[in-house]
Amino acid sequence: MRKNIVAGNWKMNNDLPLSEALISDLKRQTKTSNAEVMIAPTFTNLWHAFEATRHDDIEVIAQNMHFAENGAYTGEVSADMLKSVGINTVILGHSERRAYFNEDDAILAKKVDQALSKDLRVIFCFGEELADRKAANHEAVVESQIKNALFHLDASAFKNIVLAYEPVWAIGTGETASPEQAQDMHKFIRKTLQDKYGNQVADDMTILYGGSVKPANAKEIFSKPDVDGGLIGGAALKAEDFYAIVNAF
Ligand code: PEP
Repeated sequence: MRKNIVAGNWKMNNDLPLSEALISDLKRQTKTSNAEVMIAPTFTNLWHAFEATRHDDIEVIAQNMHFAENGAYTGEVSADMLKSVGINTVILGHSERRAYFNEDDAILAKKVDQALSKDLRVIFCFGEELADRKAANHEAVVESQIKNALFHLDASAFKNIVLAYEPVWAIGTGETASPEQAQDMHKFIRKTLQDKYGNQVADDMTILYGGSVKPANAKEIFSKPDVDGGLIGGAALKAEDFYAIVNAF
């Protein structure tokens, strides 16, 4: 089912005391929209965050996981480990993972398979670089990222997938895709799904936009018919800003 979602990616910010403080601030905010609210603290804060929001309308999600079941992968975290601290959703394929940790489509396909096999919902991120957009290659890049990591799946798997289009040139740069650019790409993504899996999968897919979404631009971006919400970085670190975005629907 297509939903409105606003997910805050805290990245490598906030130690435990800061995470506790931000969660307290978030719990003081009022939600006036129908959006599902998610926060993605770093691994070390997940258990505390899950406990602290247990009775609130906030889902705690993970920023990443490994594709293996368990074993000799020093420094990594498995799907079972996430589930054991109450996590049911994981972000995969964020552009920072792709750029700094060499996560390519093949690795991401394995991560997606592992997450889904453990009944984790996946927020799958992808998006073109500035050079791709300047060369008018952005649709081809996005299409190949989606196809290579997801198109081996059955249609039924897509009920546990949320897509997040995040143009790399708009992440953390203050530069936002225009609402029209976001809408055009989201429409293209839905069409790509429709061509492969048919109307039902395409219509039901929740597609988030990410890239410098702020209180000042969220309403216009979210007003576009194929934009179902946002993956928020910088603005997710201030409770008032984050809820201004949540309430922009
Ligand atoms: C992100 O990291 O997914 C993101 C969209 O960051 P920002 O909102 O800071 O651009």
